[in-house]
Amino acid sequence: MQAPHIGKPDDGKTEEVEKRDLGTVLRQFGLKDGEEEPWVSDLGSGIGSPRWYRSLAFMLVLIALALALWPDFNAVQAAPDVDLTEEERDEYRSQMITPLALGADTGRRMGPSRLVVPLASAPERPVVELTATLGSGDTLAAMLRRAGVGAGDASRAEELIADAFPVKDIEGGTGFQMTLGRRTSPSEPRPLENLTFRARFDLQLTVNREGGPLALEKRVIRVDDTPLRITGKVGSGLYRSARAAGAPARAVQQYLKALDEAIDLDREVGADDEFDIIIAYKRAETGEVEVGDVQFAGLSRRGTAKAQMLRWGKDGKFYDANGQGELRTGLVSPTNGAITSRYGMRRHPILRYKRMHAGVDFRARTGQPIYAVTDGTVSFAGRNGGFGNFVKLNHGGGLQSGYAHMSRFAVSRGQRVKRGQVIGYAGSTGLSTGPHLHYELYRNGKHIDPLSVQFVVRAQLSPGELQQFRAHLRELKTVKPGAALEALAPRNEEPAEPVREIDRLSNAA
Ligand SMILES: [Zn+2]
Repeated sequence: MQAPHIGKPDDGKTEEVEKRDLGTVLRQFGLKDGEEEPWVSDLGSGIGSPRWYRSLAFMLVLIALALALWPDFNAVQAAPDVDLTEEERDEYRSQMITPLALGADTGRRMGPSRLVVPLASAPERPVVELTATLGSGDTLAAMLRRAGVGAGDASRAEELIADAFPVKDIEGGTGFQMTLGRRTSPSEPRPLENLTFRARFDLQLTVNREGGPLALEKRVIRVDDTPLRITGKVGSGLYRSARAAGAPARAVQQYLKALDEAIDLDREVGADDEFDIIIAYKRAETGEVEVGDVQFAGLSRRGTAKAQMLRWGKDGKFYDANGQGELRTGLVSPTNGAITSRYGMRRHPILRYKRMHAGVDFRARTGQPIYAVTDGTVSFAGRNGGFGNFVKLNHGGGLQSGYAHMSRFAVSRGQRVKRGQVIGYAGSTGLSTGPHLHYELYRNGKHIDPLSVQFVVRAQLSPGELQQFRAHLRELKTVKPGAALEALAPRNEEPAEPVREIDRLSNAA
């Protein structure tokens, strides 16, 4: 290594002095050139020389220094240690939050201090009030025993209730409010003080002990059964609009089902149509309500009824306003009349020889309506030889039906007909001894016995029943929409506001 030249290069003396001073400085950093040795050197060369030992010693010193300054990883003390007494520790424990995993008991109870005195026995509540629910398949006595009522009281209460109401008829899920009194000794059950429940929607029963033995009180709850009527525009959708108008989901479903029997819901319902739902509804004066089944399902357009279905009879079927029940399956009888001749071989009454009778004859007066046995298309309507005025319907699925000897037609060729629709009127045209309906059924073009296919007779109310039916329909339709939602008037009319003294004084003045 060449030392830098400082000063004038031609001045030899000055250069000597300068060189010695620089050498001293460089020696201190081990960077001296020439014969002077540096403090550290490559330990791989000159092993065993004094210079090598000095370098080794220097390295060991550096290592020792590094180790001495190595940091440790112990927790840093943030606050000085405090010696807590037992009391102080308890106080802290009551206020601290500890993980549950570490067995925390904070948040549940306070750490007892020395002021807490343990008791030999805990004092009892004077009265216990509770609610118990009768399970389905449960018995009243078992339920009472479970709730803590003694055997004697439970059987006495059941006896009392049975006098007023059949215990078996109490519905599962009925809630019982009970009050149990103070017991005389810890080994005895608490006595039953009061037991109140709703035996029926309109009957509340109370078993009460006033000083002496248990006694039963009956309270008849006033119930108003004004049906709930909901009306509104169909708008974007019948279901949604009816739900938005406040009809319960179950009621809307029943409504749609009833309506579906009368009209085609896909095609015959318009946005301007008005729905009219009347639901059985009971309100108790205590505020509970009981929503029953849909009683009336109506749909009208600008005041003209499109469908009016009324629930009627023991089986709760819907009938239309004319008193006709609906059928969705099977074939309708083609006319209302007794069968006079069946399918099979017989002697022809006019042609006088034995031949096949390929249909069924129904007794019918001239002009009596003839119905399509099921949905179909009119494939023939006109004169057809001995059949006279004849209508043939194609029902799809290879099934066809024929109606002969009609006096008049009510349909024409190509027309679509619905089940039960009038297609013509009975008569005696063609080869016929008198007015009747000759009805035939074909499968894949071949005659089959019409009676082998099950008929469903359209339910029709008798004239007497029809009177009651119509009266009920009229009565039901007088209900104002929303009338059932008004508050029940109190039984005893009381002045709404007591007369104030100041009013009287101002009147007197
Ligand atoms: Zn016939």
